[in-house]
Amino acid sequence: MHPFERLLSILEKENKSLPAIETISSSLKKPFYVLVSGILSTRTRDEVTEQVCEKLFGRIKNLEDLSKIAEEELRDLIYPVGFYKTKAKTLKKLAKVLIENYGGKIPAKMEELLKLPGVGRKVANLVLTLGFGKKGLAVDTHVHRIANRWDYVDTETPEQTEKQLKKKLPKRYWQEINNLLVVFGREICNVKPRCGICPKRVRQICPYFEKLESIAKILNKYKFEKVGKSKIPKGKGTYILKIRLRNGRKITYGRESMFFKKGFYFYVGSAFGNNVNLKYRILRHLSKEKSKHWHIDYLLDFGKIDEIFISMEKVECKVAKDLSKKLDPIPKFGSSDCSCFSHLFFLKP
Ligand code: SF4
Repeated sequence: MHPFERLLSILEKENKSLPAIETISSSLKKPFYVLVSGILSTRTRDEVTEQVCEKLFGRIKNLEDLSKIAEEELRDLIYPVGFYKTKAKTLKKLAKVLIENYGGKIPAKMEELLKLPGVGRKVANLVLTLGFGKKGLAVDTHVHRIANRWDYVDTETPEQTEKQLKKKLPKRYWQEINNLLVVFGREICNVKPRCGICPKRVRQICPYFEKLESIAKILNKYKFEKVGKSKIPKGKGTYILKIRLRNGRKITYGRESMFFKKGFYFYVGSAFGNNVNLKYRILRHLSKEKSKHWHIDYLLDFGKIDEIFISMEKVECKVAKDLSKKLDPIPKFGSSDCSCFSHLFFLKP
């Protein structure tokens, strides 16, 4: 069994609370409620969705109610969900389309659901699974991020994740994966993972945690210290830049060109030559006006430096070798003047 499937089994036993849409739909059990709460839930915190739905469904019980309510009143009712003005408009359009084109019934097919205003794959999947009890797989940002962190899929978007999961995830998890990972992703394995409070059983088998631990050990082994931009010393030494790339993109560096995935990159460099020091070298990388000299200068056109680590030892290639055993190296990046395979290493977001 892949560690990711083991994670799902552990969470099945541990998860107590349910995300908003599931809570709402389990008490109301109708495709209409799932559809409306699903649309409201996008870009909105679960607690807010839950509160708003409780208020809304006290006033609106079916499609007919939704078609009759004035847009202004609806807007007030669904405030403060994200984009409430746009969502009020969308819900009004939804009611019209369902009445005029679908005889007032919510379709139970993915292709048809995707034609409805405000409905993307995630909401459509929720309607199919929670509203109609069909086999579907709802992938939101939490499912997408965690399935990638656990190396179960290797994707850039939730849509790609859904496709890969459908190929390999046992069907018994399809309906509940969203519920399991939304709660876990919101409270523990968030954008900034809270590994310290993650259950020990999960941490022990988590490949991402192993990577984070390995990075920490390497930094410790070579006596790296984190420094702020204004505190970079003038001495000679080795440095690591942790760079965040917010969106995947093709980047040309030197004579090479490749697609850089969204995520974190660790670049290892050093300043030991004549007339250079750490401060001069790193601030030069940071400068917008610089002429491009190293591969890293091309990546920094798009990525942002999150953290800077420095060591006063001459360990550039040793660090690169250690990192290449734990993270994915970018071929021939930053290593034109040594025999290393790379000086740049990728970590998923
Ligand atoms: S150990 Fe950290 S990265 Fe792994 S699942 Fe837990 S929170 Fe996420």
